Amino acid sequence: MSYKLLDGKDLAARMKKTMSKEVEKLAAEAIVPGLAVVIAGNDPASRIYVNMKKKDCEEVGIKSFEYALPEETSEEELLGLIDALNQDSAIDGILVQLPLPEHLDEAKVIRRISPDKDVDAFHPFNVGELMIGRPIFAPCTPAGVMELLKDANIDVAGKNCVIAGRSNIVGKPMAMLMLHDNATVTICHSQTRDLKAVCKEADILISAIGRADFITDDYVKEGAIIIDVGINRNAEGKVTGDVDFPKVSKKAFAITPVPGGVGPMTRAMLLKNTIKACNMHNKK
Ligand code: NAD
Repeated sequence: MSYKLLDGKDLAARMKKTMSKEVEKLAAEAIVPGLAVVIAGNDPASRIYVNMKKKDCEEVGIKSFEYALPEETSEEELLGLIDALNQDSAIDGILVQLPLPEHLDEAKVIRRISPDKDVDAFHPFNVGELMIGRPIFAPCTPAGVMELLKDANIDVAGKNCVIAGRSNIVGKPMAMLMLHDNATVTICHSQTRDLKAVCKEADILISAIGRADFITDDYVKEGAIIIDVGINRNAEGKVTGDVDFPKVSKKAFAITPVPGGVGPMTRAMLLKNTIKACNMHNKK
């Protein structure tokens, strides 16, 4: 069976072109969207993500401001920085790169971000707005998945959508977005009994587990749509998703690659949220 590749890299590039034009229009009115990126400590993966986000901003004309704090930064210092960024009119969005060093309380830090600058949509206020179906900012990864499906003319309404993974940043908000678009949603996790059987019922299967090649073809129904959110390194050190692509793609109607699927969409949605925040701050 030949499958349709859900190419996130391509869609993200198209979205960036559109966003560049939007930012150009704002620039004509001397408005420049600003994103503050806060990174604490020396986690190498976090550094790579922050660099990519800064590059994305540059590409579309958003001004990024990096705040790189040492590993031993105190909670007080970090909260003080967030207070200052909340007040700064050049900053439309604040992103705190996770994970934070262990001595810092992530939940407390996220709660300190002003909800109107919370472009990751992790603040409980924005989580609540999402729950009641009127999100100001949609969380980037799940929103990126929805865009990818829409772009491929895949309507989730009435479909059986199974999400493997129940994290606050992927699984749970993914379920909410799909539910609001009238999917029938099942959320699975590490305690789910017979995960394989549940996944096999899925018209759309979304994996956000974080285990290389975990989803093999015997988890997948013939003709299913497969979204691989996972980012892992396999035994050879290569970046790979949760899905065994060579095997699963033979059964799938459509499937995302890793890399080049959900990852670029997540980054594009961050830019979209930052522009939205800027428009809100400038009453547009
Ligand atoms: P997490 O570790 O917070 O959550 C993992 C989830 O998987 C948990 O809910 C857990 O119950 C479930 N799980 C673990 N083992 C399982 C098993 N054997 N069977 C069923 N469920 C199981 O992770 P997260 O932050 O949600 O991220 C998940 C994956 O997605 C990671 O690989 C992460 O790197 C990736 N990710 C990718 C993007 C992107 O833009 N592509 C964004 C965020 C996260």
